[in-house]
Amino acid sequence: MRNRIFLKAMGAFVLVIAAATLTLDISIRHTWENTLRRDSERLLVQNAQGFALRVQNDHQHSLQQMATEEAQITETRVTIIARDGVVLADSEADPKTMENHAGRPEIAAALSGKVGSSTRLSHTVGVEFLYLAVPSGDKIVRLAYPLASIQQHIADIRSTLVRATILALLLALVLAVAIAEVISRRLRRIVRFAEQVAAGDLSARIAETSGDEIAQVAMALDRTARRLEENFAAVRESRSELEALLNSMTDGVIAVSPDMKVRWANHAIAGIVHQQVRIGAPVIEVLRHPDFLATLGAALKSKHRESAIAASLSGHRSFLVNAEPLPDGGVVSVLHDISAVERVEKTRRDFIANVSHELRTPLTSIRGYAETLIESDGLLNDSAREFLQVIRRNAERMGRLTEDLLVLARVESGEEKLDLRPHLARQLLAESAASMQENARAADVELTVESIPDWSVMADGYAVHQVFGNLISNALRYAQSGRKIIIGAHEQTGGIEFFVRDFGPGIASEHLPRIFERFYRVDKARSRESGGTGLGLAIVKHIVLNHGGAVRVESSVGHGTTFFFLLPKA
Ligand code: ADP
Repeated sequence: MRNRIFLKAMGAFVLVIAAATLTLDISIRHTWENTLRRDSERLLVQNAQGFALRVQNDHQHSLQQMATEEAQITETRVTIIARDGVVLADSEADPKTMENHAGRPEIAAALSGKVGSSTRLSHTVGVEFLYLAVPSGDKIVRLAYPLASIQQHIADIRSTLVRATILALLLALVLAVAIAEVISRRLRRIVRFAEQVAAGDLSARIAETSGDEIAQVAMALDRTARRLEENFAAVRESRSELEALLNSMTDGVIAVSPDMKVRWANHAIAGIVHQQVRIGAPVIEVLRHPDFLATLGAALKSKHRESAIAASLSGHRSFLVNAEPLPDGGVVSVLHDISAVERVEKTRRDFIANVSHELRTPLTSIRGYAETLIESDGLLNDSAREFLQVIRRNAERMGRLTEDLLVLARVESGEEKLDLRPHLARQLLAESAASMQENARAADVELTVESIPDWSVMADGYAVHQVFGNLISNALRYAQSGRKIIIGAHEQTGGIEFFVRDFGPGIASEHLPRIFERFYRVDKARSRESGGTGLGLAIVKHIVLNHGGAVRVESSVGHGTTFFFLLPKA
């Protein structure tokens, strides 16, 4: 680089000096030549006029003598010519041998009484002369000055100019080397600074103090580096704060790159996987759990948050895995230990199941004795019989409640494995309608099945019948006034959606979001009176969820209600 800058500066200097010298040479030489010529001419005129006066008045010396003397004094060639052009005397040649000069331009001018001048090559001497002729009485005197002496002068000036140019070039060379050295030293500092910054050393500075453009660039770069250093420090600080925060969490946090390599993990992760997590290791080596890996993969692919429950991810501990895509294509996952919650939930379910189970026998006994007493003749009076009827009804209701609680506990726990196999949707509908047909007829309601194409669903037949049973019972119980129930199915994204539609009173919209909650009833008194437990729809929801499906409801007050449940296609 130094060479290049040096060469450029040198080239520029040489060019400027050469241009200046050339301009000077042309303009000065021209002016100088003209001045010299004019001065010589003026001197020659003065000399010629003086000599013309002498030729007119000096009668003592011969013309030849006077010409020779004048030539010596003025360092010119002197010629005296008669008005007819005959040469009378000449300081350098024999006049007799010289031709008639009447035709020479300077002589012709002098003959007409003026000062004649001409520049040309002399035939006699063979050099270029400046001729000057003036009239002198009946004669003409002519002085010829050899231009060679003027040209010699000019050559002298030119050689001085060339010497000065060479000297100037040498000086320019020294100056160029010095300037190039200074500039390149400053530029080298900037380059070194840039290399330090590129290597990550943001504390590097150029520290230029002068005020020229290079210094301005250096100062701007210093400012940039200072700002970068400050920003970097702030980023580092917030990063370490974030790290401290994430490390203080009990939840495991792990970030992976798009190629599923560990980018970062908090301390809790090491506790979950029982080993030190190596940054850059494939995540599969750190945590080989199918649900966890599938959730990460899904979030990477979908670019949306994904979550799943990973059972027995660490020993017997289950975790809720949340995977959030990162802007650069990776994914960060938070592992929340849900073992304790699951344990509490299981305890609750077990307790309900146990209580229900324990209540079964005494309830059966109460109902049995009440029925026996009611049916015994003559033993009781009417009011006692009525009381016993109430006891029996309530025992029956409690029986239904315990049965439903048991079923709900079972389906909620998901412990009872579903017997999933392909079923023709049409067949499921037909069987469910057949088993409920008797109840419909008793309630004076028409139960019909909509004809559907040959779709198959993956389902537990017994569980699906229970779902239909609950939904149709509800329709018979709450929408009997509609006189009609239609069941059917249609295709949906994700599977086949079954429905149970009635034309009863409908459900007000404010109840719809909570209708599938356990013990949620629109009209408590009516539900109880009709033998409802408030658990039917909750059981429906859990059975469908266990199939990987979904439930929903549409209702319009005064027009009827439709319950939908989606089951996966076989
Ligand atoms: P229940 O044992 O009380 O029937 P469910 O969970 O089966 O409990 O139903 C919850 C509530 O939803 C019922 O109490 C009833 O008010 C309402 N409901 C259910 N099905 C219908 C329907 N087809 N039409 C109107 N209301 C309904």
